[in-house]
Amino acid sequence: TPPVEKYEYQAEVSRLMDLIVNSLYSNKEVFLRELISNASDALDKLRFLSVTDPGLLKEATDFHIRIHTDKDNGIISITDTGIGMTRQELVDCLGTIAQSGTAKFLKALKDSKDAGGDNNLIGQFGVGFYSAFLVADRVVVSTKSPKSDKQYVWEGEANASSYTIREETDPEKQLPRGTCLTLYLKRDDKGFAHPERIQKLVKNYSQFVSFPIYTWQEKGFTKEVEVDEDPTEGNKDEQDGKTEKKKKTKTVVEKYWDWELTNETQPIWLRNPKEVSTEDYNEFYKKTFNEYLDPLASSHFTTEGEVEFRSILYVPAVSPMGKEDLINPKTKNIRLYVKRVFISDDFDGELFPRYLSFVKGVVDSNDLPLNVSREILQESRIVRIMRKRLVRKAFDMILGISMSEKREDYEKFWDNFGKHLKLGCIEDRENHKRIAPLLRFFSSQSEEDMISLDEYVENMKPEQKDIYYIASDSVTSAKNTPFLEKLLEKDLEVLYLVDPIDEVAIQNLKSYKEKNFVDISKEDLDLGDKNEEREKEMKQEFGQTCDWIKKRLGDKVANVQISSRLSSSPCVLVAGKFGWSANMERLMKAQTV
Ligand code: ADP
Ligand code: MG
Repeated sequence: TPPVEKYEYQAEVSRLMDLIVNSLYSNKEVFLRELISNASDALDKLRFLSVTDPGLLKEATDFHIRIHTDKDNGIISITDTGIGMTRQELVDCLGTIAQSGTAKFLKALKDSKDAGGDNNLIGQFGVGFYSAFLVADRVVVSTKSPKSDKQYVWEGEANASSYTIREETDPEKQLPRGTCLTLYLKRDDKGFAHPERIQKLVKNYSQFVSFPIYTWQEKGFTKEVEVDEDPTEGNKDEQDGKTEKKKKTKTVVEKYWDWELTNETQPIWLRNPKEVSTEDYNEFYKKTFNEYLDPLASSHFTTEGEVEFRSILYVPAVSPMGKEDLINPKTKNIRLYVKRVFISDDFDGELFPRYLSFVKGVVDSNDLPLNVSREILQESRIVRIMRKRLVRKAFDMILGISMSEKREDYEKFWDNFGKHLKLGCIEDRENHKRIAPLLRFFSSQSEEDMISLDEYVENMKPEQKDIYYIASDSVTSAKNTPFLEKLLEKDLEVLYLVDPIDEVAIQNLKSYKEKNFVDISKEDLDLGDKNEEREKEMKQEFGQTCDWIKKRLGDKVANVQISSRLSSSPCVLVAGKFGWSANMERLMKAQTV
């Protein structure tokens, strides 16, 4: 027999196992969701690879998951016909942590502890394979990768710091391919091996798995059997017994065990939107993207005509990177399917521009080739059309949030993703019309609640032509700037651009509803109240003073002028018409833009 080799877990794994077992103890049943989702991932991977390499499937072309229970001995086994693991993959995948889901889990754990500890919340996280130890004290993983002819067995125990791997040589135990996970349940958890309990959990947790899941169930059928009144008579004479036997039949239930299809395999995006509830959409979102909060909005649609695809898009409730973080274009937020086959979730701006990379969802196309590669994606006309439609739908969805009765929803959205839209002003000229109505700013007349550009325009004075703004680092400093004096006196509203990116975004927009954005700190601000006579007089009277000041300041200023824009301050520093504003200059110095 081949040797059994012993390996130590990476230190973080032991720590994670402790954490999982100690924080999820009240929500143990998540183990099943995790293991089924791994089986489903393994099937997805194989199905994808087999598109270009059908040889991988060998004779076994069936994709499924089977869950067998032995309630007397407290054993559950979960078998998939997926991609399996090589010996090295067993070590890498089940002995170390190399996944972002774990980091997310640890963060959620901390957050929820800080917030008073809600274990249910954590229970919704993808904690992965190790959740098997929530219910099992011994786990055996027997697996065969199509890349290797050999089958390997991984074996680990709860609360142990090491595990073993050996080759499986028993011909009786050979898998065609894929993975069989056997859980030897802890004494108090043997109840999970009841077939009805497993069936219920599968229905509950794996509603959105697109491979068939079979569970081992006891079945019965009724059958009429003949019973003889006199047992000594037997069946020996059929002819004679006929009339009598009719009276002597009885119904019995014949029991047997068999596999039963337990889940619905039609993907949610193929269903009729009228038959899918908001709860279904939210559940699908949480399960697919490992989220614990409901999304802010979702949109389920089909496009027809030139390019056909179905999609469900979501706007998350929070930004995973935190509000202050830079936008990360490499997110696994869009899952692309071709004719229901999962292709990839690893995009870099092909389906959404990077400023919209926070949008999550699934896209299923019938027009792309199954063996679509990144190069094809980047050059495909179909993808370009899809991208256009997806972007449009994403904007509709965001607009929907902004028009919702629940104002706090949009506030939440803006708080998390406002920066992204402002980046859109800079990077996506084509969609300015869609982005602009979604922007929000503080203003001289609304220092607490942000307003939209539409609200600003509605509030404009009849004779007012431009949209006024001042860029600053906070509302407090914006409202104390001397540039405001004249405008406030005239009761003109001024937008306060207090986020570093605001000013550049606005300058890219240039105008909104044919009204130009005007920086009130620039030198040629015209409020339509020029009194040329008086200005001439003033220039004569103070011309020498100006010259003297200019001489004293030298190169520090470009010009010193008489101005009518102040009402109580004696002087103000302004930026040249074509120069940077003071705010921008500060930003460029700090190199944050
Ligand atoms: P995650 O699924 O988030 O990657 P898990 O802890 O659930 O993390 O699983 C770790 C890794 O183990 C998976 O990424 C996968 O490579 C491997 N794995 C787990 N279960 C299976 C399986 N049934 N078939 C093939 N590989 C698996
Ligand atoms: Mg997993």
